[in-house]
Amino acid sequence: MPPRILNLKIKNMKKNLVIIILTFLPFFLSNCKKSTYESENSPTDYTILIAHGYDTTGIKDFGQYYRVEGDIVIPKSSLTTLPRQAMGNSVQQVALSKQRTITVRIDNSVYINGADFDWSAEVPQAIAEFNNLETSNIRLTLTSSTVADITIKAESISGSPNTIAEAPLPSGGNPGSFVRINTTYSHTPTNSGQKKYNLVHELGHCIGLNHTNWYDTGEGPFPVIGNSPNSNAQRDLWSVMNGGTAALSWIGFTDWDIYAISFLYASADGIPGSSEFCTSATYGYSNLPVGSYINWTVPFGFTSSTSGNFITLTRSTGYYADATLQGEINLPNGSTINVTKLIKSNCNVSVEFKNTGSQYVSGAINFALTSPPYSSYSGTVSAPYSSTYTTMTGGTYTITASRAPSWDPYYVSIGGGTPKYISSYGTTSIGTYYVGNGFVVNVWR
Ligand SMILES: [Zn+2]
Repeated sequence: MPPRILNLKIKNMKKNLVIIILTFLPFFLSNCKKSTYESENSPTDYTILIAHGYDTTGIKDFGQYYRVEGDIVIPKSSLTTLPRQAMGNSVQQVALSKQRTITVRIDNSVYINGADFDWSAEVPQAIAEFNNLETSNIRLTLTSSTVADITIKAESISGSPNTIAEAPLPSGGNPGSFVRINTTYSHTPTNSGQKKYNLVHELGHCIGLNHTNWYDTGEGPFPVIGNSPNSNAQRDLWSVMNGGTAALSWIGFTDWDIYAISFLYASADGIPGSSEFCTSATYGYSNLPVGSYINWTVPFGFTSSTSGNFITLTRSTGYYADATLQGEINLPNGSTINVTKLIKSNCNVSVEFKNTGSQYVSGAINFALTSPPYSSYSGTVSAPYSSTYTTMTGGTYTITASRAPSWDPYYVSIGGGTPKYISSYGTTSIGTYYVGNGFVVNVWR
């Protein structure tokens, strides 16, 4: 996992030692000048701590340190408000359930205020830049619907001739609801790259990013993102989220931009690649910045080979356990993004055929894989209140039920779904289902 925000938490062993030492500090500090004490205990520090998600109830001030939540020691020196890639705050994020389904629409106002304010061609380009970030869970979809999560519109921002556009931060788990292009901007953008740059910037606000250079612009303090730049020497000069940069043209996300977005919105699917396979599968990234490399941790029971930023895993013979692949992506700027993938075996999937009724059933439930190798399997159930199990390869199957002339009609239900009555002789279609471990077929009559 990436280090906690700000690296403020001191590791447990050290922490306890520090706490023991610090417990005695107040006695030494009690003669400190009141004024100094008060300035260290400024509301700004509290604001920063709260913004980082710490509960300041019962906070103790030990001069050089704070202790919060009973046992977390935070050096005051770590609270200095140096410029960092910054987000709105710990609650102004897009909810996990929304991250992959953010819709964007272009309002008619974008088309009617002249070419300088018509950014419609750049909207899909800006969307693609976010969607191409493989380590991020943010996915934007351009819609022609009249409703969307984010509306791109062109309106006058009165009294702000130097503001090219504006956008709100997320609220209630939803992204900021609009990007407003300022039709009374006094330095109209003339090129497409500029429009794209500013769209990416404003969409960045919509997903919770504040200005990377917020210290320099006199904003904040905002919660910082992970290990984003934290010193003057580390200023991220080309971050698309720097404020006061309306005149710039798009040249791509910086490594720190990628790091920050990935830190906030880690990919829920994990490393790109199949989550289930029997023998072999390939995982990795196509769009990482040039010069990136990945340190892989290969799970037990697999052999591997790598090519660029991809790894191919092969299950060892007879080894079908689920496993977790881990990768540490090293971006050229020295930052790291930790990624994982839960890998499930779809070999030897166990399917249960269950007679839930009080009478004997004569019938066969047939499975045919919809793709190569088109394997087929069959399961039967007979005795009342009993189960039998069939082992098969996981995958998508068409399922049918058979009934011979001498057999009684019976019901079939897949996984508790709507029962199908098998009254005809011959074969009756049940449907197409994905079959994995724990798949259950209920029959009765
Ligand atoms: Zn901005």
